[in-house]
Amino acid sequence: MRLRRIPRASSMLEAHPRWVVSEPGALRGKWHAHFGDQHPIHVEIGCGKGQFITEMAKKYPDVNFIAIEKYDSVLIRALEKVCQIEQRNVQLVLLDAVELRSIFSTGEVQKIYLNFSDPWPKKRQAKRRLTASSYLTLFKDVLQDEGVLHVRTDNFGLFQFSLESINHDPDYWICHMDLDRHRNASDDDVMTEFEEKFVRENKPIYELEAWRKRRK
Ligand code: SAH
Repeated sequence: MRLRRIPRASSMLEAHPRWVVSEPGALRGKWHAHFGDQHPIHVEIGCGKGQFITEMAKKYPDVNFIAIEKYDSVLIRALEKVCQIEQRNVQLVLLDAVELRSIFSTGEVQKIYLNFSDPWPKKRQAKRRLTASSYLTLFKDVLQDEGVLHVRTDNFGLFQFSLESINHDPDYWICHMDLDRHRNASDDDVMTEFEEKFVRENKPIYELEAWRKRRK
């Protein structure tokens, strides 16, 4: 994603406390109370401009969505979309995924989406990929038993790496895999911004899902 520095980004986020959680650490273990219901919590890490989370929130009102993004200049784009739909089941958080444990308690999350995460193609960058083992450990801490980790990408290298990395972690069980998701996807399937672009270019989209196994 091309990044532009937007000087007023942080004040724009602060001006919308209804959608942007300014102190997400204070809600650790309390997200259900914050949303005011017991609906499952689904998290997208690296939400970009927010198309996926916005459409999902409209389509699934009985799920609470939290969109996490590390750049404020990107998160304000998601904010513009979320403001327009006025849904109560979506919240935005400015955070680096490495800090995930500071905002979620053990087992608080039912599903994590990693949509078109940065591929970090060079070998020496492998640890930065969001499916590297250190991230998988973070995710399995916050995922509930039988919670789901969902990975979607156009990048075969990242897909292959993710498959191996997840398969290598004994606390996950790969339950679904698709090497060309759009051959099978239904018309009302929700696409991310990146996905729309790649589908227009006729690139295959790879997808995999893994269960977080039950804790013993
Ligand atoms: N999910 C969107 C955007 C994909 S681009 C889509 O499919 O269209 C990847 C996004 O992840 C970028 O916006 C980037 O800033 C964000 N990102 C990358 N590493 C991150 C991290 N460690 N924590 C939070 N967001 C991250």
